[in-house]
Amino acid sequence: MPIAKVEPLLTTRSVSGPFDYRLPEAMSEVAVGSVLVVPFGRRRVVGVVVGLADRSDLPQDRLAEPLEALDAGVPPELVALGRWVGEEYCSTTARGLGLVLPPGVGTGAEARRVRPLVELEVEATEKGIEAISLGERLGLRQRAVLRALAAGPKAARQLAASAGSDRATLRRLEARGLVTTREVERRRRHSSPGVGAVREGVELTGDQRAALGTIVASLSGPSDGSSTRSFLLHGVTGSGKTEVYLESAREALDRGRGAIVLVPEIALTPQTMDRFRRRFGDEVALLHSRMPAGARYDEWRRLRSGEARICVGPRSAVFAPVRDPGLIVIDEEHDSSYKQESDPRYDAREVARRRAADSGAVLICGTATPRPESWHELERLELPSRVDGRSLPPVEIVDMRGGNPGPLHPKTREAFNEVARQGGKAILLINRRGWSTHLTCRSCGHAWECPHCDVSLVLHRDGGLRCHHCGHAEPKPGSCPECSSVTIARVGSGTQRVQAELADLLHPLEIFRLDSDSAASRGHADGLGRFERAESGVLVGTQMVAKGHDFPDVTLSVILDADGALRLPDFRSEERTFALITQLAGRSGRGEAGGRVLVQALATGAPSIRHAARHDSTGFLAEELGRRSALRYPPFSHLIEIALGGVEEARVERSAETVRELVAERLSADDELLGPAPLFRLRGRHRRRLMIKSERRHETVTAVREAVATAVRDRALRELAISVDVDPQ
Ligand code: ADP
Ligand code: ZN
Ligand code: ZN
Repeated sequence: MPIAKVEPLLTTRSVSGPFDYRLPEAMSEVAVGSVLVVPFGRRRVVGVVVGLADRSDLPQDRLAEPLEALDAGVPPELVALGRWVGEEYCSTTARGLGLVLPPGVGTGAEARRVRPLVELEVEATEKGIEAISLGERLGLRQRAVLRALAAGPKAARQLAASAGSDRATLRRLEARGLVTTREVERRRRHSSPGVGAVREGVELTGDQRAALGTIVASLSGPSDGSSTRSFLLHGVTGSGKTEVYLESAREALDRGRGAIVLVPEIALTPQTMDRFRRRFGDEVALLHSRMPAGARYDEWRRLRSGEARICVGPRSAVFAPVRDPGLIVIDEEHDSSYKQESDPRYDAREVARRRAADSGAVLICGTATPRPESWHELERLELPSRVDGRSLPPVEIVDMRGGNPGPLHPKTREAFNEVARQGGKAILLINRRGWSTHLTCRSCGHAWECPHCDVSLVLHRDGGLRCHHCGHAEPKPGSCPECSSVTIARVGSGTQRVQAELADLLHPLEIFRLDSDSAASRGHADGLGRFERAESGVLVGTQMVAKGHDFPDVTLSVILDADGALRLPDFRSEERTFALITQLAGRSGRGEAGGRVLVQALATGAPSIRHAARHDSTGFLAEELGRRSALRYPPFSHLIEIALGGVEEARVERSAETVRELVAERLSADDELLGPAPLFRLRGRHRRRLMIKSERRHETVTAVREAVATAVRDRALRELAISVDVDPQ
């Protein structure tokens, strides 16, 4: 009796399979990757087959049979990848497998499932075509149907609309042998089909040819790990990276293999996607969460069957069922959206490396601002200049020390005035939304904070105070609750205040805004689109303005409070600051008029700011890697963060000590364990954090997983929420 080893897709940490089920004859096709509905206790749950066996250690009569096998199964290599993610990110096997399921399966057995869309297609037989001219006795509708079919087969749905036929009409025609019907699957499309496949590309530049040559050599080389297969494609925006991806994908396809192309958040990078579709047409499948489930399901199956061989999509597309991938591209590899911030907290860049290694694929990470990790670990391919030959715009640092009334330095104001006089375009980046960053009472110093989180409430233009962490909102106060004073200071500025200030300064020039508030209210394609179409104007926004979009006619880019992130205790803040300034500079001033970049900052001497001002990523990375090495930060170690949260502070404190001991006794001597350190209270939960620095990721992750498994079984820690983040961002 064949046995299926099934991992039930339950979300709790306390249940882990696989469990044995007896396969009845009717389920003889079940294989590794099959998705089953199984009885589990008193429930029905969805599970994935992770193995098959001839016999079970359990007695026959204790074994249950699966209730149902779903149509779409997961390719076995993705079962392995999903399990790996569950383990390596200290999550569970079930949650790891949840990532590789066909779209629309839903982990609850009762969830509404997506199925292929099947429709009835009708075709006239020869006898049917003749019937009209031979003047056979036909009903009105029957005649209309046969006329409509003279031009070729049609869907029953179309016939119903044009000829008024119903099922009965068609059945009668079929019974007389005048038509045949069959069920066909119809593909649900989310977007317009790619306009043909434009085969020919552009003529590559020398640098592009050199990069492609190296990539092609390793595509053709043995996949036994003896040749380099992971590359960092380093080049500014406009240096022709995408063209290299396209040609590399072509080479992979020519060798009969597939390709996966990861892009940051899909809404911000439609161009890359469009270019792949223009070049490869229907060979490209798109997968992203904003697509309707039906279309996503169909695209998934097109990849699974090999009908489509390239998948373009955001982070989750690293799990796309592309057959035999020969190439995996990560565009804008520095982008933080590659890290999933909910369990399983996987990093798509790491998963891509794993998948590339498993399938013998070449990995290309492309960016203008490489992560120190990639710079250190990958073979570099350089595209040192823009294809159009233009140089990068000069970057000027504007020193904000010595007090400045308002958010804009006089020099910055003057630069904006000049743009307004010439009727040009400018971008301003300030990485804070809202009006003021916080309110304080001028008399007693009272600060308005969120009642659920230990952070300041942010004033918004509509007059409300809002918490940017939990969404708490309250009306703007008229007076201080402590001392009743009515003199309340608005400190700091956000996008809304800067927008208003510029509107005053530059009237009547139009000021557009792009942040998550404006995006939520109008859809951000709108704000961006209006700015792009406008003759002149200023776009004010958060870091969204530095992502994905090129503005050829922008002559001035300004970044306010560029060193804001450097004041946070985060070892990645130099890297982030450098990337933000460089990305902004690279996306502007690309047209005839050239461009200028102003960087307002207090810490004008910070390495990230100094190097960004000279467009010097090599210099920055060398210095940053020196610092990382000295402090033993990634890429010279792995970090594992354990966050603990609960309602009662004293209890969280005690529990954190217990968890620390559980972890400490399992770590090896050269692992460093820091904390528990307090994190700010969030959504009413007091939090503590443990941090581990380790050089052996796998062993340490295993140790932490065991410690956490022990902790969740401990009754004393029952109310504690524990989350683990491997390589946190
Ligand atoms: P990146 O991805 O580095 O931003 P792209 O590949 O998008 O660069 O190239 C920038 C622009 O230059 C695009 O409009 C692209 O079509 C064009 N381009 C790229 N390579 C060439 C080339 N070899 N010859 C002419 N135009 C090119
Ligand atoms: Zn007061
Ligand atoms: Zn809050």
